[in-house]
Amino acid sequence: MKAIQVLATGGPEALIYSEAAPPPEAKTGEVLVRLAAIGVNYIDVYFRTGLYPAPLPFTPGMEGAGVVEAIGAGVTEFKVGDRVCYPQFRGAYAELAAVPADKLVPMPADLSFEHAAGAMLQGLTAHYLTESTFPIAAGQTALVHAAAGGAGLLLTQMAKRRGARVIATVSTEEKAALAREAGADEVILYTKGDFQAESRRLTDGRGVDVVYDSVGQTTFDQSLGSLRPRGMLVLFGGSSGPVPPIDPMRLNTSGSLFLTRPSLTHHLLTRAELLSRAGDVLSWIARGELKIRIGATYPLAHAADAHRALESRATTGKLLLLP
Ligand code: NDP
Repeated sequence: MKAIQVLATGGPEALIYSEAAPPPEAKTGEVLVRLAAIGVNYIDVYFRTGLYPAPLPFTPGMEGAGVVEAIGAGVTEFKVGDRVCYPQFRGAYAELAAVPADKLVPMPADLSFEHAAGAMLQGLTAHYLTESTFPIAAGQTALVHAAAGGAGLLLTQMAKRRGARVIATVSTEEKAALAREAGADEVILYTKGDFQAESRRLTDGRGVDVVYDSVGQTTFDQSLGSLRPRGMLVLFGGSSGPVPPIDPMRLNTSGSLFLTRPSLTHHLLTRAELLSRAGDVLSWIARGELKIRIGATYPLAHAADAHRALESRATTGKLLLLP
């Protein structure tokens, strides 16, 4: 089958395209999915570079949507021909993926494969961040970094649907327009101005209730400085690089702040939790209350180009590979 393989970790060139990769088989408890759309996520970059370790060689990609081609022993929930999607199982940059049945979500009949793949990983992330990690409420203000990105556009929309005020940061005017379209009340070009001072100005000096920070290294300090006393910094990524260790006393002196570094895995602990979060996200899309912006699609063979674009900050919304 056609698939991307990583034989040695490294730059985008480490994503090697093969037309003769061994196809996986559906083992006990697994479902073989013929993928129609594959999500590209920043976590794929972390695995490709080796920041997140994986045994070599491996096929990257956590997220996809497609049609059930075969089922392994013991699988009762799915049958051949079902349309399914999933947020988190490595091996998606391929024509076929064998995925544990308990990681799959049944797709609503009228949802496209592109939107399903685009809604899973980043959508469920935005869901747990706004509903569980810091369940943002009406009247509260959130600072959302990289708000025109895949996760950022969804976070902005979900914070708004809970009634919050959103201050968004982005790098360009084009991205600012997208953040506003997603509902952001204020947009700061953090590449040009001081977002900490601006966030304080926009909250009459008080500071924001929560910062959802996926950028990491370049934003961390100012994110802490943007919070109100007892506010929460939700550091959920490191698109600009990892954050160095910090002294816990900084949380004290900055206003008894809370800091968390959450991961999607710990918010999809049971089948019930996966289906409940996915049910919310997919129903919001079906009702037109949540928009999935497909920023770009690439042939599977051009996965390296997708990674180059993502890492160069050139992209908006969701990137997909089409096998
Ligand atoms: P994005 O679409 O958000 O792309 C990354 C964006 O980060 C860029 O477009 C850019 O936006 C911004 N950015 C700022 N500085 C840099 C830099 N130096 N290099 C590259 N990008 C930079 O990607 P995703 O939506 O896929 O992921 C966003 C983040 O969320 C990632 O860090 C990812 O790891 C994290 N994540 C975490 C999860 C979790 O559960 N913890 C789950 C899902 C994602 P701009 O140009 O506006 O600055």
